[in-house]
Amino acid sequence: MLISFPNMGPNWVAFKTLFTALDLDVVLPDPTNREAVKIGVKYSPEFVCFPFKATIGDFKNALDKGADVLVMAIDCGPCRFGFYASVQERILRDMGYKDFVMIPLDQADLLEFHWVKTLQQVTGRSDPFIYSKFVKAVIFFVKKAKLLNDIQTAEGLYRAYERNQGDTTRVVKKLLLKLDETNTLKGLRNFKKVIKEDFTKIDVDKTRNPLKVAVSGEIHISLEPYVNLDIRRKLGEMQVEIHQNLSLWDWVVHKFHLNYHRKWLEHLAKPYVPMDIGGECIWVLGEYIDRARAGFDGMAHIYPFTCMPEVTARTIITNKLKKVYDLPVIFFSFDEAMAFEGFRTRLEAFVDLMYSRREHKLAHKRDYLKQDLDDIYHEYGSNFYKECFQMIQNQ
Ligand code: SF4
Repeated sequence: MLISFPNMGPNWVAFKTLFTALDLDVVLPDPTNREAVKIGVKYSPEFVCFPFKATIGDFKNALDKGADVLVMAIDCGPCRFGFYASVQERILRDMGYKDFVMIPLDQADLLEFHWVKTLQQVTGRSDPFIYSKFVKAVIFFVKKAKLLNDIQTAEGLYRAYERNQGDTTRVVKKLLLKLDETNTLKGLRNFKKVIKEDFTKIDVDKTRNPLKVAVSGEIHISLEPYVNLDIRRKLGEMQVEIHQNLSLWDWVVHKFHLNYHRKWLEHLAKPYVPMDIGGECIWVLGEYIDRARAGFDGMAHIYPFTCMPEVTARTIITNKLKKVYDLPVIFFSFDEAMAFEGFRTRLEAFVDLMYSRREHKLAHKRDYLKQDLDDIYHEYGSNFYKECFQMIQNQ
């Protein structure tokens, strides 16, 4: 049995450990690429959203590499995501792949423990002895998801300060491989130290005062760099500090009903959207308000073309929130036809706009804003963000 799952940025590290900790073999699809997207586009319904197409390409690649069990997250809606796994299975069978099993991973509410059924299906075991292995696998998965979140936080900050372009990207790549190879509890407990040690090796220019930009949007587009044209790296290389709440860790904690930050964002968004309508709509709205109040320089809202919940979020930001809050926002709707040059030009123009807005504010309210920046930015962000910020200042 050879298990596989679709790409979602660096999160393969956590998903892989979930299965290898159960002594199962895993084959990873190649990183999402032009070929995978081309295949997805060819075989998917034209109107379906982009993540559906990209993941079909990943699945085909995994099947060609010998996978015979595909694991795909499912939900009970409310958007098209509820239909992904079953429609993709049909398409793959129509493409001629008959000899595989598609196992759904129900993510609707992790406290309902449907995921235990998935693990039973994958291992083919439900005897009492397997449960201790399930616990170990889930602990490893959750710990690695948290560490990936820490790497993402540090990456967003360090790239804006690096003197030699590419250093942060190299450190992140090495850390992912190291995390993949760390398969003991002791190693995982110490891994935060490894992250800090590796990032402190980057030569930084701590005199910079980078723009602070939030990246928010639909989960697959936000986490998979190929489909979002690596927006985090592009902005980082323009010396912009990236703040991204969304990560696998953020999602898992939310699905266990323990994500109080998301609950805060829901509270902020409630006057505009009183319920979860799919995608990340409600949290994007909450984040826009939260980042505006925190004095951020801008926000990038990224989502797949035809994504109904995110288009709703965009409309509410444009028609309602922009009238109340002063936070520049740029929208990117990604699909297979997205051209890189147009994307880069728009990003550069957005960065120029944010710099001139900051200069304008400094010129008109110099003392007030200076104090404002010190107070807000240094207190904003997770504890790990603050630790990383301090590491840069101490270098
Ligand atoms: S969130 Fe958007 S992109 Fe994702 S399945 Fe729903 S409609 Fe499609």
